[in-house]
Amino acid sequence: MSHAQIKVKCLSCALHFIVCTWFPDRHTFDSLYCPECGQHSGNFALWKEDVAQHIHMAVPGNAVAIDRPRFSEQESSGSGTTVFGI
Ligand SMILES: [Zn+2]
Repeated sequence: MSHAQIKVKCLSCALHFIVCTWFPDRHTFDSLYCPECGQHSGNFALWKEDVAQHIHMAVPGNAVAIDRPRFSEQESSGSGTTVFGI
């Protein structure tokens, strides 16, 4: 199953990031927040690319997990582990 990647450059702080989605029309200048500076005034450059591979091949792909969902912190408190599976 293919997906789309909305490629974004924040024009306030220059962060580049990608939104991987099955619903690219939901992600516009009005809906995005910069994850680095928090800017939400539409100051972005956007590109869309259709990707002919399943979304899980992009995220997580072969990446190493560096954090876990917040809802699991209470369940695993004290373990000190940061590994989770999706
Ligand atoms: Zn920014």
